[in-house]
Amino acid sequence: MTNKILILPGDGIGQEVMVEVEKIINWFNSNNNFNAEIEYGLVGGASYDADGVAISDTTMDLAKKSDAVLFGAVGGPKWDDVAYEHRPEAGLLRLRKDLDLFANLRPAICFSSLSDSSSLKKEIVQDLDILIVRELTGGVYFGEPRGIENLENGNRRGINTQVYETWEIQRIAEVAFELARKRNNKVTSSEKRNVMESGLLWYEEVKKLHEEKFQDVELDHMLADNCGMQLVRWPKQFDVIVTDNLFGDMLSDVAAMLTGSLGMLPSASLGKSVDGLFKSALYEPVHGSAPDISGQGIANPLASILSFSMALKYSFGRNEDSKLLEDSISKVLDDGSRTKDIADQENSISTNEMGDKVIENLELLSKE
Ligand code: NAD
Repeated sequence: MTNKILILPGDGIGQEVMVEVEKIINWFNSNNNFNAEIEYGLVGGASYDADGVAISDTTMDLAKKSDAVLFGAVGGPKWDDVAYEHRPEAGLLRLRKDLDLFANLRPAICFSSLSDSSSLKKEIVQDLDILIVRELTGGVYFGEPRGIENLENGNRRGINTQVYETWEIQRIAEVAFELARKRNNKVTSSEKRNVMESGLLWYEEVKKLHEEKFQDVELDHMLADNCGMQLVRWPKQFDVIVTDNLFGDMLSDVAAMLTGSLGMLPSASLGKSVDGLFKSALYEPVHGSAPDISGQGIANPLASILSFSMALKYSFGRNEDSKLLEDSISKVLDDGSRTKDIADQENSISTNEMGDKVIENLELLSKE
């Protein structure tokens, strides 16, 4: 069986880091019978320059036929004045919408040897491994009515609507419970039921689903403001946090910074699963196209490589390969290899060298 992968490098450092991801895929093809077939497409500014849109229908078709889409990053000053509907980010939004990717997964893992890079004390973040599951296609970013109105008294009114229905809450909570079962079996559901009806509905639906189907998983509920505070007070109390689009946007950024560098943070956006595997899922680093360092060969490719590791787990069910890859990255870091963003001033290696180091360690660990 062929594993279909679509690589969309995008713009800026997206193009540089995805070269390293391709090397890793080829290693698994040659050494672990991964049998991946790679296609390429344009997205973001690169697609706008070629086709006048942020993603073409042809590329969307390729994405729909793929098991996993590996996305680099989009955007940059070159496209600052492009019409709103064609801006580079529109490509990413269309992928999420047309593939119905409603669950955004952002792990915050602190590799032991990087625990000094966090702004928090070492003992608070060392060996941290938590997962934020954010609802991605509903809530206040999409709710109607929305807009800016001119009022008769000369004021203007900005409106957005926070709205959730039962099925949207149930399907994201279901993903969180299922993932917790494969981890440390604990879910924290976060909302603001004290001041928002949509939060109360969220609380009631998650509680109900838990009673009906997931009593073996520990569940607690935490108000979103407290959750933000607890994330920086003692993040290790969490395993999986499930929350809505707005709170998830903020809480996942807070959790991300616990681990140090943007160059280390992967993410996955998942839709419906078939036999436990997520098809046409999207995997991308959390960082953007970093125009300030683009073209210099110094970007950290590990966030993108870790995103591919998530694809191995969630789209291809290859948990052992995913672990092998993460162990190899951990060993590279333990050995002291660092790109500039995570290095002390003097010693750093290039994007390309970091990819090669990961492969060296895949060779070593796979023979143990
Ligand atoms: P950014 O993530 O691109 O960069 C922020 C800072 O982190 C920069 O100093 C950059 O050099 C550094 N950095 C980021 N990734 C790195 C890596 N892998 N290795 C080393 N250093 C890294 O965010 P920004 O500067 O706010 O945005 C730049 C462009 O990217 C904008 O056009 C923005 O719209 C776009 N963007 C795209 C995405 C996406 O494609 N998903 C996400 C965020 C921002």
